[in-house]
Amino acid sequence: CGIVGYVGYRKAVPVLLHGLQRLEYRGYDSAGLAVLDEKSKKIIVEKQVGKIKDLQEYIWGKEINGNIGIAHTRWATHGPPSIENAHPHTSKSEAFAVVHNGIIENYAKLKDELIKKGYQFKSQTDTEVIAHLLEEYYEKDLLTTVLKVAKMIEGAYAIGVISTVEPDKIVALRKGSPLVVGIGEGENFIASDIPAILEYTKTFIALDDEEIAVITKDKVEVYDINGNKVEKKPFTVKWDL
Ligand code: GLU
Repeated sequence: CGIVGYVGYRKAVPVLLHGLQRLEYRGYDSAGLAVLDEKSKKIIVEKQVGKIKDLQEYIWGKEINGNIGIAHTRWATHGPPSIENAHPHTSKSEAFAVVHNGIIENYAKLKDELIKKGYQFKSQTDTEVIAHLLEEYYEKDLLTTVLKVAKMIEGAYAIGVISTVEPDKIVALRKGSPLVVGIGEGENFIASDIPAILEYTKTFIALDDEEIAVITKDKVEVYDINGNKVEKKPFTVKWDL
């Protein structure tokens, strides 16, 4: 139901939690986040059913030191509210983590194919297929892989991806669900809406349908579904929270 992502110089966890709090008004049943841990170089995932406050209390005092991460509030469509079904979802090797708003309509068929290839599913969500598809089709480049997977999935979505294979970037795409990119200095953001990250930046790029953004701390590049670069003009909002 809501997505936030951060890459920059700050610790990701507080930024993600603030963002989730600002998205609370949209309604949700569970929440979670994934951060790339700077020491272990692994993706750490924390999830809770209930309020953002519950997630916050749950991870309070845990050492999660990473400057890149994605977070999600879930409004369950496939699979009941539970920790397993809360996002982010990770691939088999846990090299890829995904947050997703919306519905993947052809997920059952994709899931069957992945199970035949030896993938085991940890959740009942439609979303989990995306994580495994990324792992299955990753060759040398995350953007190319996301483009490939985008052509396989049908439905409405906003998606955020981080990976251990390309640990400096968030890849985000949208089709039918809202997603903006927040532009900072030495840091960048993604979010379902502007207020989620307005305390950090006032400059944004609105992704259009079927656009994909590759976001590092210093750069945002946007591509169309065929991988052609799209020039996007950032806009500045004048209002405050
Ligand atoms: N369809 C996904 C799920 O049920 C995402 C729901 C959402 O947009 O929060 O987990």
